[in-house]
Amino acid sequence: MTDNKKTLVFATANRNKLIEAAGVLGEGFNLELPADLGYADDVPETHFTIRENAIEKAQFVWEMFGKDCFADDTGLEVDALDGAPGVYSARYAGEPKDPVQNVKKLLRELEGVPFAERTARFRCVIALIERDPEGCEGLPEESEARADGDRGFALPDGGILRVFEGTCEGHIALEPQGELGFGYDPVFVPEGMEKTMAMLTLDEKNAISHRGRALDLLAAHLGLGKAESSESAEKGSVEGE
Ligand code: IMP
Repeated sequence: MTDNKKTLVFATANRNKLIEAAGVLGEGFNLELPADLGYADDVPETHFTIRENAIEKAQFVWEMFGKDCFADDTGLEVDALDGAPGVYSARYAGEPKDPVQNVKKLLRELEGVPFAERTARFRCVIALIERDPEGCEGLPEESEARADGDRGFALPDGGILRVFEGTCEGHIALEPQGELGFGYDPVFVPEGMEKTMAMLTLDEKNAISHRGRALDLLAAHLGLGKAESSESAEKGSVEGE
């Protein structure tokens, strides 16, 4: 059976991220992974900011497949650790990346720090590249856009890049709790809640999470989303509209 949904490639090998993205975009879009297109490796992320990594991943897939695509990069910023692990969140405990060891290291580093001082946030940046049927005229070129830091830009080959960001404030728990979600979810207690993100259902997580907020902004841009006045818009930002 065919449907009329547009297809978007999500530049990730992380099936948990795919499930979260489908929870927001699934009504309007078929989501494909690079693995579905024959690319089974990790998509490269070699930069020192999550924004640059998100753009790098989206550009990699755009150049490989020439299909409308998006990528997300996420970091956990812990205030008592001066913002670490941040852009190094995936490999905090070293290679190969291991979410269980990352959580253990985080709890070790925070030993003795009381709950009230364990403030932290997830930051998620989504980079979208799409072929605009109206062309790229009038949009700044990449170098110009990076310099002013807050506009989308036209890629040399006809793609248009836009960036969406969402954050979620909270605290790092004293010990892991919960079986759902992935990564640092078992030790992240979102602001105003008494349970970790790993104790939230998919819909509950998407409603308040960094990725959920960035996805809401992406969905709104794609013509799917909730209104700009939603709470998520207050916690997110869009470049390139
Ligand atoms: P990346 O965006 O896949 O590079 O993720 C960086 C690190 O943050 C990895 O260790 C992920 O497991 C973790 N991570 C990414 N998103 C989430 C999330 O929504 N909850 C908890 N951990 C996450």
